[in-house]
Amino acid sequence: MTFNSTLDTIKTYEAGKPIELVVREYGIAPDQIVKLASNENPFGCSPKVKEAVRAIIDNMALYPDDSMVKLKTALSAKYAIAPNELIIGAGSDQVIEFAIHAKAHEGSKVLMNSVTFAMYEVYAKQVGAHILRTASREHDMEEFYALYAEHKPDIVFLCTPNNPTGDGLDAEKMLSFIEKVDSDTLVIVDGAYMEYARFKDPSKAVDPRELIARFENVLFLGTFSKAYGLGGMRVGYGIAQAPIIKALYKVRPPFNITTLSLEAASVALEDEAFVQECIAYNFEEMKRYEAFAAAKGINIIDSYTNFVTLSLPEEKNSSKIAQELLKKGMIVRDLSSYGLNAIRVTVGTASQNDRFFELTNSLL
Ligand SMILES: *Cc1c(COP(=O)(O)O)cnc(C)c1O
Repeated sequence: MTFNSTLDTIKTYEAGKPIELVVREYGIAPDQIVKLASNENPFGCSPKVKEAVRAIIDNMALYPDDSMVKLKTALSAKYAIAPNELIIGAGSDQVIEFAIHAKAHEGSKVLMNSVTFAMYEVYAKQVGAHILRTASREHDMEEFYALYAEHKPDIVFLCTPNNPTGDGLDAEKMLSFIEKVDSDTLVIVDGAYMEYARFKDPSKAVDPRELIARFENVLFLGTFSKAYGLGGMRVGYGIAQAPIIKALYKVRPPFNITTLSLEAASVALEDEAFVQECIAYNFEEMKRYEAFAAAKGINIIDSYTNFVTLSLPEEKNSSKIAQELLKKGMIVRDLSSYGLNAIRVTVGTASQNDRFFELTNSLL
């Protein structure tokens, strides 16, 4: 059977290996496996969320509230925005899909960083758009502007803090770049790790409300999958001025968020203290990775997120190292598909991190 030929240009997204797969492939008991591959919160979500989800477990027969009033009210209050400046997706991934499908088409141009979140390219290629990338690994705003001025892309992605490198873009630099961009170019600011950046260095964080108050062409993305510990519930959001949100709604499937997920995300917002504790813990444990890297003479990228990227010396092949670790039940992310000889490791609990240091000690 032949398919839409643009699919030939798309590489299927490879997610971090799930624990179940390692159990089956290597015969390791599930409780012996440590997954530090997908930047999930190792403490999960607030206990209040679990309680709330249990309390509505009998409500699975009816379709969810498609107006999402509870979650939209909570998010609107958090960011001091109007409900029509907000759209909820099954993960912020789905909002990326909405945005690209709403704005781009065959022949459109989409500009992004040389190394960044892989799904931008996948969704852009689905509509036959061309991908433009900077050369530098960090978000270099001068380079972004030069490419912008030359190609006038339809969409620009700014991922800050960036995945899979963990570095953060100076908010002032980002804002002065956006100021120079034409209002018909959609600038998507992916803030999946914004809670971490805000904690470590507020100069690397943006306030979504301020962003959309200033710019009619910006879409800010946030998610419950990382700091809020709800990766399994699939809830993310987009914040923009009403005309952008209205366009995105036209490509949204109805009932895209489940009843349980809507409840979980709403209640997660009521326990900010839990999230802040997890973030503080994250940066304490990250110091141990920095010390480990220093002791080993390995380059570590200064991280504003909940993961660290270790650039390995040439003689240590990142795919091989990741494979060796996998055999021992430690799942990390090999970054060779991004053109980097590096591994990305989510900062886990103290004992998960101990296990990482113990296993890598002889390998690195
Ligand atoms: C994890 C991540 C997302 C999407 O996460 P969802 O689970 O789909 O909300 C988006 N952007 C970046 C940079 C990420 O790391």
